[in-house]
Amino acid sequence: MIPTRADLAALDALDELAPLRALFTLPEGVIYLDGNSLGALPRATAGRVAEVVRAEWGQGLIRSWNDAGWMAMPGRVGDKIARLVGAAAGAVVVGDSTSVNIFKLLGAALAGRPGRRVIVSEARNFPTDLYIAEGLAALLERGHRLRLVEDAGIVDAIDDDVAVVMLTHVNYHTGAMHDMAAVTAAAQAKGALVLWDLAHSAGAVPVDLGGCDADLAVGCGYKFLNGGPGAPAFLYVAPRLQEAMRYPLTGWLGHAAPFAFEPGYRPAPGIAQAMVGTPPVISLAALEVGVDIALQAPMAAVRAKSVRQTGLFATLLAERCGGWGFTLASPADPARGGSQVCLAHDEAYPIMQALIGRGVIGDFRAPDIMRFGITPLYTRFVDLWDAAEALAAVMEGGEWRNPRHGVRRAVT
Ligand SMILES: *Cc1c(COP(=O)(O)O)cnc(C)c1O
Repeated sequence: MIPTRADLAALDALDELAPLRALFTLPEGVIYLDGNSLGALPRATAGRVAEVVRAEWGQGLIRSWNDAGWMAMPGRVGDKIARLVGAAAGAVVVGDSTSVNIFKLLGAALAGRPGRRVIVSEARNFPTDLYIAEGLAALLERGHRLRLVEDAGIVDAIDDDVAVVMLTHVNYHTGAMHDMAAVTAAAQAKGALVLWDLAHSAGAVPVDLGGCDADLAVGCGYKFLNGGPGAPAFLYVAPRLQEAMRYPLTGWLGHAAPFAFEPGYRPAPGIAQAMVGTPPVISLAALEVGVDIALQAPMAAVRAKSVRQTGLFATLLAERCGGWGFTLASPADPARGGSQVCLAHDEAYPIMQALIGRGVIGDFRAPDIMRFGITPLYTRFVDLWDAAEALAAVMEGGEWRNPRHGVRRAVT
């Protein structure tokens, strides 16, 4: 049965996560369905950043590296993120971008499997992951190559020549989710390492790196963790692997004694070896606010709401917008997907622009995907009803045909 708006309002009234919405600043008149690309602004962020800038930097000056705990921030925020992804304390550190962290972990993984030449990934993986692998293989000049396969063929593509399997847990384009435990076990049985990209997973879906005995992972700070534009990323290395890792970026903060200022590199113990340069303190402070909110929400409740919302939204879209040539590109069974709903349409770009013009913000992913992120911390059930109505209005009125909606901007 197709739910009514009143049915959805009733779900909001019963939603145990509903109070968390008040922790975010969301503009009036906007339905924000792009938290999988840039998370919303927590109310506490501006105050915390102002405090770091005015008091810790302005008054404390360089003393704050010690007195305000700045130097400990990458590990402290890393330990908090570890709790969100089922990792032990000391297994996660925050810093650099996701792209750079992929370079660091992939480089160390290839160094750790010297006889093997292949990196397995998916053709539909997020491009930066593939570009980094390509660049690293060219730099190493040891005949490494990328073997790109379809989702279903991953396990079959892992043979004795595979050094590392690099996958995004929840696909950015389709929202499809891999079985982390099964792929990890299959790869390890063949002697390969697995590098998981958690960009669309951390804070959005249950992740149990420890329970899966995962090897390596990276993830993004500005999506479901609400750390702000360009927030630092995180990386995870299983404690059993940490001492043997040899990263291709050997900066002073990954040194055993940074302030000994020795001329030669000696690796730091533990996860600290994965650090490179000076931590981005102001960005880390903003990220910590977002992570602290995520820690308040029980993941089982987040996942239950996300599955329910993605399923309901797909149903409402099919019901209200079924006649206009959209096809559902995210998994039909929400339990098999992440926290997003994707529609494919030949005119996806102008349609999304027209929808944004009505205050319903999703995004476009080339060549033909309209992507809607569901963030259970602040997405209401009625928002989904209203968003489906807005899309129906855009189609009914032919609004998207206005030429101004077809003008491609730099960021889509
Ligand atoms: C968003 C995203 C990234 C972003 O990488 P940056 O280095 O932060 O630009 C990387 N990988 C995946 C899978 C993503 O979804």
